Amino acid sequence: MKNQLTVFNQVVSPRPYTIESLEQVLTFADQQNPGFSLTKPSLMNIMKQAGYKTYWITNQQTITKRNTMLTTFSKHMDVQHYMNNSRAQNSREYDENVFAPFEEVLADDAPRKFIVIHLLGTHMKYDYRYPPEFDRFNDREGLLPVMDEDQVEVINSYDNAVLYNDFVVSSLIEKLDARNQRSLLLYFADHGEDVYDTPPHKMLGRNEGSPTLAMYAVPFMLWTSPAWQASTPRDFSAFTDRPYSLSHFIHTWADLTGLSFNEWDKQKSLYNDAFVEHPLWVGNPEGKKPLIEIKIN
Ligand SMILES: [Zn+2]
Repeated sequence: MKNQLTVFNQVVSPRPYTIESLEQVLTFADQQNPGFSLTKPSLMNIMKQAGYKTYWITNQQTITKRNTMLTTFSKHMDVQHYMNNSRAQNSREYDENVFAPFEEVLADDAPRKFIVIHLLGTHMKYDYRYPPEFDRFNDREGLLPVMDEDQVEVINSYDNAVLYNDFVVSSLIEKLDARNQRSLLLYFADHGEDVYDTPPHKMLGRNEGSPTLAMYAVPFMLWTSPAWQASTPRDFSAFTDRPYSLSHFIHTWADLTGLSFNEWDKQKSLYNDAFVEHPLWVGNPEGKKPLIEIKIN
């Protein structure tokens, strides 16, 4: 069977913060048109109009003021599963919370389903993101000698959180694969994280005021089922090194799912032969400082 997983290497987010990034990912908004998130339909609206039953499963906190826009987005869907009702960001709500509602949704007999799963992933504090059995990285192996003891501890807890996230995402793929249906799963992070990655190795987290590539570079992986490949034989391997901004995601998703609408721009689709490389703008499009074009080395 042809490779079912395609990994894209040069994808960045436009903003280093969850809300601001997803506002562009899930709508027509981008760094040149930030207001489109309010004036044009969202990806969720479009999938519903296309006849999909739509589901939002989240392990992100939903009862905090900051997440209001996400909660609004989730309300665009037919079905919502809010799995994390804690008020504290630092609570042990592990992402495996999404497994049961995902199975429930997969069992739903709707002919076409669009499912958004929003994980906590590797958001701070890292050591709250994984159960004890994933506490595997706990020494200096592979780390730069310049890192002090505190930094080593933080980096190890981040790597453990990534290890657990790999477990969660691969488990979701296995559950979908076990259904033997025509399906696909697209996994990406809403933004990056600088974990002492950038010299002089002092930066931890994200700061839009002093951007680093580590804050914007994101994993972007597509899994397609055998039935999907049989019905839609497309090879994406030629596109894996295209520099791409998540702000244009809606055009790629439309291309992938065969949707077309007036605003669709095939030059902004990662999977299209008409793809055109666009500058990767980062920064606050409504801020005073000009946007910066980030370069992937
Ligand atoms: Zn985030």
